[in-house]
Amino acid sequence: MYPASFEYVAPATLEEALETLGRYEDDAKVLAGGQSLIPLMKLRFAAPRAVVDINRLPGLDTLAAGDGGLRIGALVRHKTCEKSELLGGRWGTLGAAAPLISDPIIRNLGTVCGSLAHADPQGDWGSALLAMDAEVVARGPDGSRTIPLPELFEGPFVTSLAPTEIITEARVPDPGPAAGGTYLKLERKVGDFATVGVAVHLAMDDGRVGKAGIALTAVGPTNLRATAAEEALAGSDLSDEVIAEAARLAAEAAQPYSDTRGTADYKRTVVRVFTERGLRTVREGMA
Ligand SMILES: Cc1cc2nc3c(=O)[nH]c(=O)nc-3n(C[C@H](O)[C@H](O)[C@H](O)COP(=O)(O)OP(=O)(O)OC[C@H]3O[C@@H](n4cnc5c(N)ncnc54)[C@H](O)[C@@H]3O)c2cc1C
Repeated sequence: MYPASFEYVAPATLEEALETLGRYEDDAKVLAGGQSLIPLMKLRFAAPRAVVDINRLPGLDTLAAGDGGLRIGALVRHKTCEKSELLGGRWGTLGAAAPLISDPIIRNLGTVCGSLAHADPQGDWGSALLAMDAEVVARGPDGSRTIPLPELFEGPFVTSLAPTEIITEARVPDPGPAAGGTYLKLERKVGDFATVGVAVHLAMDDGRVGKAGIALTAVGPTNLRATAAEEALAGSDLSDEVIAEAARLAAEAAQPYSDTRGTADYKRTVVRVFTERGLRTVREGMA
């Protein structure tokens, strides 16, 4: 199916992009990698009057770590993350998630920030970045604001972004050198969306868990944080017993539904098994 007709605008500056979005009020869409927006337009689930292509905007393709933590610009592709040597060690949750996003064609074009703006509960970046306490910087007609991910994700495909705002980057706080993480994903076949995904991130403090992040994909209306599991891990020695209890609590936090990918019970069990496996993997990696 062809999309409904639309104006295509490819601004050269962020100011011009914001001005164009403002002109169309709530009837324009930002185009980044197009890997979610274009299929939606072809299926006519979306029919914006204008598409504002941000791919020519300068300065939005930075993937870098510095004093303020990790910055992922709005035009950083999944592939850039997959290939980046930066995303190991303390940023390991992100490095583990990147190659599991769909297939190479999608990864070549799709962006991390586009994935967050799309707010698909089956999106992998949402969980990986939730587990690491990320926030996005959104620029709108009145300036910039930062939005922590739990406040960004309001529901399936619904965010707190105004239609006149553009995410310019995602920011991840530096968890320090004694940190690590992973991401586990169950998919029916390579390239499929997650049946279940679990992001695990741990920052250690003097041999004990300082801060833990556990976030779940495809088992709720948004990517979910397993807060009780995180609390059970914080301050602990990461013993087998603690890990088993955290995994049980993560499964309890899941809100899965039964569909063609599996029953709710099955998905809850996968959350438990993946949380346990992920935590053990991270513990071994940091030993
Ligand atoms: C077949 C297929 C399989 C896929 N499998 C997976 C998978 O396994 N895991 C996964 O996580 N994802 C998967 N995806 C989605 C893919 O990761 C997309 O790239 C991602 O969801 C959106 O990023 P994008 O840059 O392509 O955004 P676009 O498609 O350009 O935009 C998506 C939405 O976000 C908005 N938007 C984009 N960028 C910004 C911005 N900077 N500021 C404000 N709004 C913005 C757009 O207006 C639009 O509403 C799959 C997609 C397809 C088609």
